[in-house]
Amino acid sequence: MSDEKEKHRRDAQEPRFICSAEQAYECMKCANCCSDFWEISVDKESSERIQGYELSRIRASLRYYEPFKKSAVNPERTIIRQAQGRCCFLTKQHLCGLHYFFGADAKPKTCRQFPFIFVKTPEGVYVSASFACLSVQRNEGTPLPQLEPAIRELYKEAPEVTTIPEKISLDGKITLSWENYVYLERGLLELLSIETVSLPTLLIAGNIYLDLLAEFIKQATGKGEYSQDEIVRSYLNIMRKQRFGRVIEIAQRSLNAPLLQRVYVGILVSFRNTITKKRSRLGTTAYLLWQYLSNLFGLGKYQIYPIEEKFRPADFRPDKLKMDDPFFRYSLLHYVKQLIFRKQGLDKMSWQKAYRYILLYFALIRWYATARAVSRGEASVDRSGLLKAIGFVEQYYVRHPAMESFFTIFPQVEALLDNFMDKKHYAPSIVYPPVKE
Ligand code: SF4
Ligand code: SF4
Repeated sequence: MSDEKEKHRRDAQEPRFICSAEQAYECMKCANCCSDFWEISVDKESSERIQGYELSRIRASLRYYEPFKKSAVNPERTIIRQAQGRCCFLTKQHLCGLHYFFGADAKPKTCRQFPFIFVKTPEGVYVSASFACLSVQRNEGTPLPQLEPAIRELYKEAPEVTTIPEKISLDGKITLSWENYVYLERGLLELLSIETVSLPTLLIAGNIYLDLLAEFIKQATGKGEYSQDEIVRSYLNIMRKQRFGRVIEIAQRSLNAPLLQRVYVGILVSFRNTITKKRSRLGTTAYLLWQYLSNLFGLGKYQIYPIEEKFRPADFRPDKLKMDDPFFRYSLLHYVKQLIFRKQGLDKMSWQKAYRYILLYFALIRWYATARAVSRGEASVDRSGLLKAIGFVEQYYVRHPAMESFFTIFPQVEALLDNFMDKKHYAPSIVYPPVKE
């Protein structure tokens, strides 16, 4: 067998693992991941195995009903039933009943994989972790590379592995080789790491970095003299020589439209609310239309489940979230960098669009953190409130399986968001506060 074939065979069996060195984890047994609006999906093998256990030992109520049901949003999926927002296997002592009575391997494969996220790419499996986990939010515990032996074992049975294509679409028209994508991603991360510039400006500059890249490739390719490798290297060399000064300068001059953010984030939040408080298809359409009109004309208030209170636009004043606090900056930037590390969205959309979604998640964190502080009567968001908001957004939007199915059922909402993302002022409008400073 040739060396190349042997390497290919080895990679298929024993892929290279690229574990995020920036991320740590150690389970604190808080049971946060076993509660709260998740749809914990169960594969067929796990559900058949679990139904063979003596489940009455866990909770008396289990004798009377099935622990699994079909997802209301996607009937293809089997999910674990919840009782009062908690997994039906969770004991009163906040322990997994399956684990406690029948051993760690008794849990469904999804739960065994949690919080690890596996993303298969042409160069190996990227491993990061879900921010729905408290330990991951706090970045406490053992750095992921040191957990690699256990991670390798989990990967063999992992039910959820995202596969990234060998070539990455930059903007829906230009395709980048994997190597060029990785090279340019490094540039984006260098830009986001510049310490002397505010975080919102850096995030807007990241969007401009991708827009200018698409324009640069289009123009240079038109001349027909250079390969994509040469064009990409030349682009990043220019950016580095300028210390990304050009994109930062454009970002600093950009104008934002707070109303745009209130309308579109309001729509996304309303859309998410319909997953929590289920309605018929017609009822959902009518609710979304009403929310769109009331956000547009400033009528009514915002509802942001799971927070029960309703909020007025004025509640989202910028002084509620102190973006220049070093802890806030570190935590938000860490989350953004982890989303980029895990190639969030690149399995189904262009890089430009995936990055714009990351900016949308950033805006949602601000909304959740502020709404939570207002609902608790706090003058401003505190550290734990910020981490909690990152967890909410990860759990309810970024990693919630039902979100994807909803976009399939209501493609109009996705088309509306796409339209917003293509607007010239999208990045500043979504990154700056939804109320003028
Ligand atoms: S099965 Fe166990 S680990 Fe999985 S969600 Fe339920 S209590 Fe948590
Ligand atoms: S949220 Fe994280 S720390 Fe808490 S029980 Fe789940 S895995 Fe453990």
